[in-house]
Amino acid sequence: MEQTDVVVIGAGVVGLAVARALAGAGHEVIILEAQNAFGTVTSARNSEVIHAGLYYPTGSLRAELCVSGKAQLYAFCASHGVSHQRCGKLIVATQADELPALDRLLATAQANGVHDLQALSAVQARALEPALHCVGALLSPSTGIVDSHGLMLALLGDAERCSAMLALCSPVHGGRVTPAGIELDIGGSDPQQALTTLRARWVVNSAGLSAPALAHCLTGLDARHIPREHLAKGCYFSLAGRAPFSRLVYPAPGPSGHLGVHLTLDLGGQARFGPSFEWVDRIDYDVPADGADGFYAEVRRYWPALPDGALQPAYAGVRPKISGPGEPAADFRIDGPALHGVPGLVNLFGIESPGLTSCLAIADRVVELLV
Ligand SMILES: Cc1cc2nc3c(=O)[nH]c(=O)nc-3n(C[C@H](O)[C@H](O)[C@H](O)COP(=O)(O)OP(=O)(O)OC[C@H]3O[C@@H](n4cnc5c(N)ncnc54)[C@H](O)[C@@H]3O)c2cc1C
Repeated sequence: MEQTDVVVIGAGVVGLAVARALAGAGHEVIILEAQNAFGTVTSARNSEVIHAGLYYPTGSLRAELCVSGKAQLYAFCASHGVSHQRCGKLIVATQADELPALDRLLATAQANGVHDLQALSAVQARALEPALHCVGALLSPSTGIVDSHGLMLALLGDAERCSAMLALCSPVHGGRVTPAGIELDIGGSDPQQALTTLRARWVVNSAGLSAPALAHCLTGLDARHIPREHLAKGCYFSLAGRAPFSRLVYPAPGPSGHLGVHLTLDLGGQARFGPSFEWVDRIDYDVPADGADGFYAEVRRYWPALPDGALQPAYAGVRPKISGPGEPAADFRIDGPALHGVPGLVNLFGIESPGLTSCLAIADRVVELLV
């Protein structure tokens, strides 16, 4: 049986960051990826926003790793030539009864260690973005955007320079915990192909949407330590024509905690709106042509000049959630041996937003648990 030091399951942005960190620490790392390319699932279907760390409950992993991950990510992009832009973002109250939500956000941000938020009057906000309607706003100067594919390419490059190996078309079907290590059964591009088995001292389950299902296929891991997965789809609609804003624009958060229909920009300056939020029971990435119908009214609250028919279906992503409808949003779970009792295993569950921003900080946390 083939043997290695570390297996990372999943070559999304988080798995690649973990592989880079472990290979950089001198370990022999193999990354097993089910698809025929890296980073084609959730890491390719998101807003590409470098979040500042404003929204998440103080003391949560999401707050902590977003704030530290953001600083690491800006430094990494600068040192590795990954395209990014610290464009800033406005969070806007469009009517007076939304102003208290901005005050609460400012307090949460400060408690999370984000000290650069600026409260703006409507006049100050419009001086920055003349197309904007609001009665007050917060400016987050440290919010930015990043080329997620370029980021993953740079993470993989670093990992490979430290001798990590990426195996594509290598879905892990399951495995077992043994006294000699964790054995994984790996398929190939052809479902009829015989499974090969690989034994590793450490295994990091970074399979994103599939992480809970995969954990259930690992004999020796108690199912009590595996959360139920929930899926929430989000569709994006791009704006035909020139973007009216140079910063990202988000509505004040509502009571559900959902960020609302916001405007993000890509590095080419193209604007898109979304993502929508819909609980689903299976993964599909179709974007319905009439899906933007509900967006117009929401967007016009902060951009009244949105022309009719300007929103075109773009793409969709699915959030790998571990809390369901009506439940409070769950934190990231980085479950190591102290929690589930399996030596050498780390399960990453519920790595939804801000997982892209936090990838380097999550990787450091995994290294701390294993090394
Ligand atoms: C709509 C949306 C918007 C978002 N916007 C932002 C944002 O603006 N900023 C931000 O910071 N975060 C954002 N996020 C979150 C961010 O995209 C994710 O946290 C991040 O991409 C997760 O990366 P990952 O590597 O964990 O998962 P993935 O990218 O899904 O990678 C998992 C990999 O595992 C592979 N895999 C699965 N099962 C197996 C198996 N059995 N064997 C081998 N390989 C397997 C998959 O093929 C995949 O390549 C958003 C998410 C969504 C859904």
